[in-house]
Amino acid sequence: VSIRNLDRTFTRDGNTIQALSGVSLDVAPGEFVVLLGPSGCGKSTLLNIIAGLLPPTSGTIEVASHAVTGVPDEIGMMFQKPVLLPWRTVRDNIVLPIEMSKGRRAAKAAQGRVDELLDLVGLKSFGDQMPNELSGGMQQRAAICRMLINEPDILLLDEPFGALDEFTREHMNMQMLDLTHRLGRTAILVTHSISEAVFLADRIAVMCARPGRIMGIVDVDLPKDRT
Ligand code: ADP
Repeated sequence: VSIRNLDRTFTRDGNTIQALSGVSLDVAPGEFVVLLGPSGCGKSTLLNIIAGLLPPTSGTIEVASHAVTGVPDEIGMMFQKPVLLPWRTVRDNIVLPIEMSKGRRAAKAAQGRVDELLDLVGLKSFGDQMPNELSGGMQQRAAICRMLINEPDILLLDEPFGALDEFTREHMNMQMLDLTHRLGRTAILVTHSISEAVFLADRIAVMCARPGRIMGIVDVDLPKDRT
């Protein structure tokens, strides 16, 4: 991921809000980068621009050496809330990205892959349950499977475990770190928690608000088996 001189403004009630100003950042393949800063510093805006969900006002963004226009195939994303469809089983939620991009038949053919992913996140016997039969942490693990089903190279994580209690969050962070290293995935995670950033990141981009920008980038030199 290569970001150059990104600006993004919003207008609300006639006022111009500079959500991002002059943001540049490179993320190498396999790297885990955390965007850390107080609320309102533009973390979600930046992540949404990388995901192709929001256009920048100016500046450039490339993923895998091509300009981002629309949502790139290489990207999988996760939000603070798992947003599973309540009327579909866990399994049918996980195949949704395939169903939408390649149709029902392709989704049916991916059931073996669904079982592998459920096993990977410790939900082996829960595929046929409904989302509301699972705890918050389990639902977020199902959302991890849905993010991974199309085998994205880059994972964008917008405070993925922020709605969970502290103990579950720490446990899920450990699982996510282990998962990204094992699968060799690139990850960009947004958080306002310093301890979470230090625990997860290879590099931390520290952001501040008004205007939202990167104040500095910190290399985190900790052993990788930091559990
Ligand atoms: P963070 O994720 O760090 O909390 P955001 O990216 O959500 O920050 O927001 C950055 C700034 O941009 C804030 O001042 C926010 O109010 C503003 N902003 C974000 N999205 C919009 C929008 N759709 N319309 C107007 N202002 C927005």
